[in-house]
Amino acid sequence: MVSEKAIKEFRGSIHGVVIKPGDSNYDESRKIWNAMVDRKPAIIVQVADADDVSSAIKFARANKLDITIRGAGHNIAGNSICDGGLMIDFPSMKKTRVDVAKKIAFVEPGATLKDFDAEVQKHGLATPVGINSTTGIAGLTLGGGFGWLTRKYGFTIDNLLSVEVVTVDGRKLHASEKENTDLFWAIRGGGGNFGVVTQFEFQLHPVGPEILAGLLVFPFKQAKSILKQYRDFIQTTPPEFNVWVVMRKAPPLPFLPADVHGKEVVVLAICVAADFDKGEKLIDSLRAFGQPVGEHIGRMPYVNWQQTFDPLLTPGARNYWKSHNFTELKDGAMDLMIEYAGKLPSPQCEIFIAYLEGKSNSVPANAMAYSSRDLKYILNVHGRWDDAKQDKECINWSREFFNATSKYASAGAYVNFMTEEENERVAKAYGANYNRLVQIKKKYDPDNLLKHNQNIKPTA
Ligand SMILES: Cc1cc2nc3c(=O)[nH]c(=O)nc-3n(C[C@H](O)[C@H](O)[C@H](O)COP(=O)(O)OP(=O)(O)OC[C@H]3O[C@@H](n4cnc5c(N)ncnc54)[C@H](O)[C@@H]3O)c2cc1C
Repeated sequence: MVSEKAIKEFRGSIHGVVIKPGDSNYDESRKIWNAMVDRKPAIIVQVADADDVSSAIKFARANKLDITIRGAGHNIAGNSICDGGLMIDFPSMKKTRVDVAKKIAFVEPGATLKDFDAEVQKHGLATPVGINSTTGIAGLTLGGGFGWLTRKYGFTIDNLLSVEVVTVDGRKLHASEKENTDLFWAIRGGGGNFGVVTQFEFQLHPVGPEILAGLLVFPFKQAKSILKQYRDFIQTTPPEFNVWVVMRKAPPLPFLPADVHGKEVVVLAICVAADFDKGEKLIDSLRAFGQPVGEHIGRMPYVNWQQTFDPLLTPGARNYWKSHNFTELKDGAMDLMIEYAGKLPSPQCEIFIAYLEGKSNSVPANAMAYSSRDLKYILNVHGRWDDAKQDKECINWSREFFNATSKYASAGAYVNFMTEEENERVAKAYGANYNRLVQIKKKYDPDNLLKHNQNIKPTA
């Protein structure tokens, strides 16, 4: 329990906003993306600057409160919030500033991907980020970050130039390839384990503003043939050409015939960031994989494409996601994908395969904390539903599929897709980089004050 007096004094000492239970905005301010997570922090600190972050950490330490950090609250495990703790939140720190001449962006940690893309695209620039625009730039970047531009330009962390960090002892540090290099190494993939980031600096690249993108939908009975052709074809394509596979029940999209709505389908989601003429020809090859039931493909603003999946990923649903890395897509893994896509327990559940071969594979595995540089595909199982009565059924479906496909997975794992009970997978995720991460954790957070994350403990 923190005394009213202590909270009042703290409130008066910072530039931002302090929210506590009973305040009219408390319930709204503690909501996160995954509706399965309903936690009640003792205090929410909506910081206005790095000084506030430093004060919030000192206050938490003085009052023995657990610390959590929220970007946009998308983490499936709900690590950004805990019962009885102090949550550092950034709703007033969402700005992106672009240095157009140097093609660099400075981004505050409360920004969503939508906030970021909107600013950089004013100048026809972008860097690889995720595919759902309400995701936070902060959590996404610190765990790795991949999306439609990853084949060409790498993970988000491969484009991170520096960070401003407040460490648990309240110091404000700049970390880059030249300064506090150990911290910079650890932060690129090591998540929120080492300090609170108050600014990210990213390398940008010319992208769009128009790209060629869309969805090509095949009936589920053609799934095996489509998947096999996809696997053989995608490996022959240039890194500007991105095709991911989604298997799910068809939403009532206007370009699909009504009799397909609600039926299982195989969707090829396509994004061509450059060389549209070549892209059109490659898309023709995809069409010839089978007999599509519908398509919606054309030139569109990059920012629109970045929001295409938002309607399927709105906040407020219950979610349980699991993920594997693959270096190749074996026939046995495909059979399991088809089997489990054939028994989806809810119309919102889906199986997602992202093909990421390209730039990331040329980065040495020890260049930074994120180590899965042999990865070609990420397989995601999105367990998603609305009714709590379906919790068991949907979680079991996700877990069973994840377990069944484990034997085809490669080493490593993506920490940003880990559920709460997967902490034992954290060391595996970092492979040979884990011991160095433990040493750096010991240096910057020896008492493990930042433990609400995919936790790297300061002891081996
Ligand atoms: C619908 C959906 C779509 C997704 N799509 C993609 C995708 O396409 N590509 C991809 O790579 N990932 C994707 N993800 C995973 C996503 O990267 C993670 O969920 C990530 O944690 C989200 O970041 P956030 O800031 O919104 O999360 P939050 O839940 O706010 O934060 C997650 C954790 O990050 C750390 N953190 C946040 N802010 C800071 C900070 N300022 N300083 C230090 N640590 C901090 C904390 O440990 C916190 O617990 C997706 C997730 C969802 C739910």
